[in-house]
Amino acid sequence: MADKRSPLIGVTCMTIQAENYSPRLGMSRSYVNALLKAGAAPLLIPHIADKAVLRALYERLDGLLLPGGGDIDPVHYGESRHKNCGEPSAERDDTELALARWAMEGGMPVLAICRGIQVLNVALGGSLFQDIQAQIPGAERHDWYPNHPRDRRSHTVAISPDTRLAQIAGTTVLPVNSLHHQSVKDVAPGLVATGFSPDEIVEAVEAPDHPFAIGVQWHPEELASGDARAQRLFDAFVEANKQ
Ligand code: MN
Repeated sequence: MADKRSPLIGVTCMTIQAENYSPRLGMSRSYVNALLKAGAAPLLIPHIADKAVLRALYERLDGLLLPGGGDIDPVHYGESRHKNCGEPSAERDDTELALARWAMEGGMPVLAICRGIQVLNVALGGSLFQDIQAQIPGAERHDWYPNHPRDRRSHTVAISPDTRLAQIAGTTVLPVNSLHHQSVKDVAPGLVATGFSPDEIVEAVEAPDHPFAIGVQWHPEELASGDARAQRLFDAFVEANKQ
């Protein structure tokens, strides 16, 4: 029987190809650190093509964290690839889109970060801007990577009052880091946009009719070690897994 004092949280992986090594699977330790600090038992999930096997793994989870990474194949929202859209990973897309749909159908708590908010939105039928600078006239810079500190607060997010996110953050104006070049375009059915940057990029979504499904476009895991408000998002997520 699962010990709900330490909920089992699945964290999907990316493929890492380093010179002289066979492909490896991994994810930033900062997600794992924030989950451990919140009292969860994190479990890294590889790409799994066989849906029956993936489902068997899913059934053992209490919650799902969809982390950051590269661009989703625009085929999943009915577009061809813009020249600024990165090389997609079909294996990762397929694994995460399936897990996201199951978790939303099944009422499993979901915390979706950066690429994760994009996966969540696409899984439910939404779409993305493939490149903010190229596709949104007047937008500010949001891709403060790779040669900037990952905890650099690059802009604020205005959080809608009376949302789960505002309640957790304890504020409606939050300074955040910004390490993305894509963003939510059409918000999927079942999701509501709950946070916007000053240039009106969608920076947060949540599902009002789901026990806990929050997506954020920034990287709270890179802020959590020194910022209680960022850690509280992980604390609230893990708490929701105990319900
Ligand atoms: Mn941003």
